[in-house]
Amino acid sequence: MNARIPIAVEAAGCGTPEVLRERGQREVFCGLTGIVWLHRRIQDAFFLVVGSRTCAHLIQSAAGVMIFAEPRFATAIIDERDLAGLADAQAELDRVVVRLLERRPDIRMLFLVGSCPSEVIKLDLSRAASRLSQRFAPSCRVLSYSGSGIETTFTQGEDACLAALVPSMPAQAPDSPPALLVAGALADIVEDQFRRLFDALGIGPVGFLPPRRSDELPAVGPHTRVLLAQPFLADTARALEVRGATMLRAPFPFGEEGTTGWLRAAAEAFGVPAERFEAVVAAPRERARAALAPHRERLAGKRVFLFPDSQLEPPLARFLARELGMGLVEVGTPYLHRQHLAEELALLPAGTRLSEGQDVERQLDRCRAERPDLVVCGLGLANPLEAEGMTTKWSIELVFTPVHGYEQAADLAELFARPLRRRALLAA
Ligand code: SF4
Repeated sequence: MNARIPIAVEAAGCGTPEVLRERGQREVFCGLTGIVWLHRRIQDAFFLVVGSRTCAHLIQSAAGVMIFAEPRFATAIIDERDLAGLADAQAELDRVVVRLLERRPDIRMLFLVGSCPSEVIKLDLSRAASRLSQRFAPSCRVLSYSGSGIETTFTQGEDACLAALVPSMPAQAPDSPPALLVAGALADIVEDQFRRLFDALGIGPVGFLPPRRSDELPAVGPHTRVLLAQPFLADTARALEVRGATMLRAPFPFGEEGTTGWLRAAAEAFGVPAERFEAVVAAPRERARAALAPHRERLAGKRVFLFPDSQLEPPLARFLARELGMGLVEVGTPYLHRQHLAEELALLPAGTRLSEGQDVERQLDRCRAERPDLVVCGLGLANPLEAEGMTTKWSIELVFTPVHGYEQAADLAELFARPLRRRALLAA
């Protein structure tokens, strides 16, 4: 548990809202959680958590219901017995990997995922990954990243995983035309929709990170323009910039407005004429607006409090306020990446209370004092708040559910409308 220190209020710059900065006890899941959606995205990858029984329980309970015939994640449990010698732990890890890859030749990419128990921290997983990669090349590539819960939030697991993939991306040819790279795990159906829109706009080639298969890693280089699909990819963005890529400044593709702004940033970077852009997006924009209208009727005027959990909070708050007419009581985020979120912050209503980091008891006090209509928070806070009569939405659902793009705008709104409907039914 971290020491409690006073809240700092950061001075507002021109066009930047004031931010409460808190550093205290936090209530968040760790980065291992990302495996739950990443294993479904990269279809020939396997995630081997190197961790404790606690890590195994977390993964099983978070993802257990989604296991089909052949699971694509597991935990190699390192316990006190292995403290006897690090050499033994390394040898044991090699044995586990060899057994796994012999039994599952379909695995083309293996991630060794570190965790926070001290026995695991002492293991050099990146060395183990490069040793094992050499041994199993070319049929399987072994990479490593950390999903540790120390000083991270659950979405940082995806950031660490994608950042680990960047060095393996092939180099772009020096004479290649400009290419677009969309970074951030998307549901297959959403990727297909975006591909169709980019095709209609005449933007291409378009690559997606992570790809659906490990041998489809897109090339990267100075001709790459990157659109981030998620706001929590700071390390991935940095790694792509090191490879020469340029970030496009855009809001995130949540809701009709965010999706239009996101696509427009790509259209402008690739010189798409404004008339063509408007013609391509007109029909899906209209569909999204029409699908959102009934949700707006139900949600307008309701007050929402967002606890810091997924780092999706600022773009979601923008969507809730501007497209659904909700009032923002407080918008918390574990980290505020000012550069990646500049377009989002500019769109938030004037006077929005933003908080970065967490001191959970203080924040709970503020929430109780405000009695919002809806609280968006992690699983650990939801049950106690429900018991106090508040209506909650688990923020983790926003990462598991396809919510990007025009066709999913109404599904995103529905995620916030449902708990209010359920509460109204219970009260009736
Ligand atoms: S990585 Fe750390 S926080 Fe996450 S489940 Fe394992 S022990 Fe717990």
